[in-house]
Amino acid sequence: VVRTRVAPSPTGDPHVGTAYIALFNMCFARQHGGQFVLRIEDTDQVRSSKESEQQIYEALRWLGIEWDEGPDVGGPHGPYRQSERSEIYQKYANELVEKGHAFHCFCSSERLDAVRAEQMANKQTPAYDGHCSHLEAGQAQQRVAAGESYVIRMRVPTEGVCVVKDMLRGDVEIGWDRMDMQVLMKADGLPTYFLANVVDDHLMGITHVLRGEEWLSSAPKLIKLYEDFGWEQPELCYMPLLRNPDKSKLSKRKNPTSITYYERMGYLPEAMLNYLGRMGWSMPDEREKFSLTEMIEHFDIQRVSLGGPIFDIEKLSWLNGQWLRELPVTEFAQRVQKWAFNPDYLMQIAPHVQGRVENFSQIAPLASFFFSGTVQITPEQLAHKKLDEQQVRKTLQFVLWELEALRQWNKEAITDCINQAGAALELKLRDIMPLMFVAITGQASSVSVLDAMVILGPDLTRYRLRQALE
Ligand code: ATP
Ligand code: GLU
Repeated sequence: VVRTRVAPSPTGDPHVGTAYIALFNMCFARQHGGQFVLRIEDTDQVRSSKESEQQIYEALRWLGIEWDEGPDVGGPHGPYRQSERSEIYQKYANELVEKGHAFHCFCSSERLDAVRAEQMANKQTPAYDGHCSHLEAGQAQQRVAAGESYVIRMRVPTEGVCVVKDMLRGDVEIGWDRMDMQVLMKADGLPTYFLANVVDDHLMGITHVLRGEEWLSSAPKLIKLYEDFGWEQPELCYMPLLRNPDKSKLSKRKNPTSITYYERMGYLPEAMLNYLGRMGWSMPDEREKFSLTEMIEHFDIQRVSLGGPIFDIEKLSWLNGQWLRELPVTEFAQRVQKWAFNPDYLMQIAPHVQGRVENFSQIAPLASFFFSGTVQITPEQLAHKKLDEQQVRKTLQFVLWELEALRQWNKEAITDCINQAGAALELKLRDIMPLMFVAITGQASSVSVLDAMVILGPDLTRYRLRQALE
């Protein structure tokens, strides 16, 4: 039975790349009557967060992507969150050491830095020099027992090539000399991606791995681990990465990459999913508009083309327009209501407008920015009595950087961000607020801008600041 999975790391906003990979894994599984698993790869404790994990579930569900097993729905192969599987990885790492496929490494970061610096000076690719790989097993065990800090590294061949069998490219040869003695277990006792990914794909019975092309160059390490364990390797498929219209890798500096942004901008989930399905893939009859059911029905992984698919917002908007126009008008009205005029959203806004109007007709002019994606502003609106144009830009940029790093979206945290930007620039909150009003609401004064930012959410807030800087 075919089993596929998507394995996002909850380290930021839910990425359209994650949805794209999830979609293709889900279609492949469904087409074969198999199962599709969601696994959370949160072994990087510093960068992972529960909020981000929650957002991944919500964003994928909004799009209509459904998984058969996962942290939130359970299943027979759990836990599906890597942070809850430490003991499993520990056991398998020890097995590799016992078999001689991995070794304890006690090198200090000072030593590793010195080795690296010397290699760089000699124009060599920095890599671990194998210092601890020569230690005798007994000696290493003694040092471990004595409480010395260590990592576990894998042994890799130093010559020859590894043949990666890719479902799209056929055989890809990669030289072993390009593989480092990868750390498998970190000093904190947690695994790195390589070990956790191989162990989990095996224990979860994954038969086909469709992942981003960015992982192709490190495939030999995974293949070696399957061999070392004596496990059957799943079929591998490296999907082309999404690109900006200028062909560079899709990045938030050039395109919004958060799925939530597209939801807040009023795109239909069906259209978004349809567009992601057009990324490197096409229907046999090349039609542009198709539903998920149609995609699954006609799915064929061999129809993925390797040229980097371009994620172009104008094309997405065009497709979304097609979907919108073909909705029955009653459904169109219902969707609009659900998007912005739902009781939930209105209840967030109501307390801020109630005290400021004398009749309902004054609400729209005051609060229209809550129902739009961007706001139109002119350079004159951003004129500031104390700051020149350069300083205004710098201020907005500093606030944006602070807000981009923010994980918890609430009024206090947002205020802190503005204060921190202010401190760096020696400005007071009241000097910055007029600029925020204009950038976020498009007006010189309106309802409280801090509350407005909370309600608009991180995606639209950041987007408007970026727009104000353009
Ligand atoms: P950074 O901007 O730091 O490079 P990122 O935008 O690439 O980060 P990640 O957190 O590295 O984002 O990736 C999140 C998920 O999205 C990963 O599963 C990754 O494989 C996928 N992803 C990121 N960029 C792309 C892309 N261009 N095409 C397809 N998938 C992508
Ligand atoms: N956690 C990895 C990522 O988010 C998974 C990559 C894979 O599919 O193996 O990119």
